[in-house]
Amino acid sequence: MKILFGGTFDPIHNGHIALARYISQQFNHHVSLLPLNGVPNYKKPPLASLTQRLAMLQLIANQYPEQIEIDYSEAGLTEYSPTVYTLQRLRQKYGNEMPFYFIIGGDSLVTLDIWDEWQKLFGLTNFIVAARPNYPLNKMSAELQQEVMPRITENTQQRTANGRIIMTHFEPIELSSTMIRAHVARQTSIAGMVDGKIQEYINEQQLYR
Ligand code: ATP
Repeated sequence: MKILFGGTFDPIHNGHIALARYISQQFNHHVSLLPLNGVPNYKKPPLASLTQRLAMLQLIANQYPEQIEIDYSEAGLTEYSPTVYTLQRLRQKYGNEMPFYFIIGGDSLVTLDIWDEWQKLFGLTNFIVAARPNYPLNKMSAELQQEVMPRITENTQQRTANGRIIMTHFEPIELSSTMIRAHVARQTSIAGMVDGKIQEYINEQQLYR
């Protein structure tokens, strides 16, 4: 089984960590952070280098070795790769039988139909959605709703290779990497928003100033 948490992690913050640890506990399995090198063209490229972002992830993985590890398989790519291709590459590596779980935020689920070749995703992985209990699923397009609704479950114990959407009740934390970068640029405190070791690293490397 593989639980994937893809992101740019520029930098990794306490919202990422809380979510990864929550899912790890619920599934009784470690979560693989999947650092992505490159962003879609509508997003700005990361400010920290890949080496720096990986170093920050490693600081966190070292602290929670039972819960968090790093999957480096996409880190070496030089440009953005849509998730569907990332998952196809991982399937080549791990085979079609292994249960895959891909963590996304509740907001991402309702706009999943803007992802490249989104219908193929359900044939490649399960999703774990970090949503509030009353998340407005009716905000989805009719087509997406039709695809998503029959797949939804709250069962975290049943293992299938792909195709299910597991809703969890993780309460979102009001934090984003954008917010952290803005604080550092304004020289306001990021204490409590990132791990102490990440704060030190950002200082040391003079990131986001
Ligand atoms: P940015 O502000 O630069 O866009 P981000 O904080 O969204 O960054 P990413 O690395 O892009 O961080 O996020 C990776 C994944 O983590 C995404 O699926 C995103 O939805 C999720 N995520 C980010 N912040 C939170 C949070 N506070 N709570 C729950 N999930 C989060």
